[in-house]
Amino acid sequence: MIAARRTSLPVRVGRVTVGGDAPVVVQSMTNTDTADIESTVQQVRELARAGSEIVRITVNTAEAAAAVPHIRDHLEGLGVIVPLVGDFHFNGHKLLTEHPACAEALAKYRINPGNVGRGSKKDPQFAAMIEVACRYDKPVRIGVNWGSLDQALLTSLMDENAKAAQPRDVNAVMHEALITSALNSAARAEALGLPSDRIVISCKMSGVQDLISVYTDLAQRCRYPLHLGLTEAGMGSKGIVASTAALAVLLQQGIGDTIRISLTPEPGGDRTQEVIVAQEILQTMGIRAFTPMVIACPGCGRTTSSYFQELAQQIQSHIRHRMPQWRQRYDGVEEMTVAVMGCVVNGPGESRHANIGISLPGTGERPVAPVYVDGERALTLKGDSIAAEFQQMVEEYVASHYASRKGN
Ligand code: SF4
Repeated sequence: MIAARRTSLPVRVGRVTVGGDAPVVVQSMTNTDTADIESTVQQVRELARAGSEIVRITVNTAEAAAAVPHIRDHLEGLGVIVPLVGDFHFNGHKLLTEHPACAEALAKYRINPGNVGRGSKKDPQFAAMIEVACRYDKPVRIGVNWGSLDQALLTSLMDENAKAAQPRDVNAVMHEALITSALNSAARAEALGLPSDRIVISCKMSGVQDLISVYTDLAQRCRYPLHLGLTEAGMGSKGIVASTAALAVLLQQGIGDTIRISLTPEPGGDRTQEVIVAQEILQTMGIRAFTPMVIACPGCGRTTSSYFQELAQQIQSHIRHRMPQWRQRYDGVEEMTVAVMGCVVNGPGESRHANIGISLPGTGERPVAPVYVDGERALTLKGDSIAAEFQQMVEEYVASHYASRKGN
């Protein structure tokens, strides 16, 4: 059983609420040059269309900061109303104070306490960013990262530990340094006037066990909403598996108010994959539903050709493609399940449990494909157009089974 969500303060990020009773929010980050308005608008639009509820963009130069309000306006002109978060490092204090239109256009600022400034510059530069957040009534994420941990703080905790009667394991001290950095920064932000319900916290690490350990501890030590993510998760299946392993354990314990999957895209790969993976983690765990699920068997020696895989892929792509329109028109469609099975061994059984399911003919079976609708055998497809006919049946099922929203 999934544990009840940890109690956290609700934080408004534009039109989206993170924490409190709000569902776990999916977010993502662009990898375009923010100063390139056109490509950033295009990618934010794609991420939002894929289901990203918040999108973070890098704000690293004066050109990028100047571009932010235009990006926001272009997106709104396209009907894409997604909160934009500015990711600031090193010069955030300067960019936010010198570009008020950027500060106003962003829905949240991400501040990394390890990259705010060195030595005596750190405190005033952090304060400058918090003052802007207070002025524009914006929330911030205090986003500590393993790779940019405040080295002065780490050294001081290590020294303290070395003098202790029973020194702790070095790893435990490092974990403590991350948590302390986040909580001290949040306390400082509050002391500077930022309300507690304008703060989100993250302590991202690249090791699965490290992340679980840090967030389990962090969750007990504050009421700020927690942004979960395994940083530098990596590419392909490794990135997906590592992120899922870490986040699933925490989400199961009721920890996590918003998630981002930090996948490294393949060269030329699709950035929206990180959104789909985030949604699939939440949906397969039964936490939130985003899109109809396709249940497909793995195939085996009984599957006659790649036709079965092609049909499963085609149906999955069709659903993803249609979902933005379906979401606007049909309530509850995201709960639908569609089964695509390779033969009649498990096909009919699995199809009966789905809203609509098809079993393709396996080796030595008659070249027909029985279709089940709501647990009952509805008809049998045959011939060369099984895929097209089944896709049409899915369309008709959606139109007839999910309530139309008024005005559509
Ligand atoms: S349903 Fe049929 S084709 Fe699919 S894995 Fe099971 S036995 Fe193999």
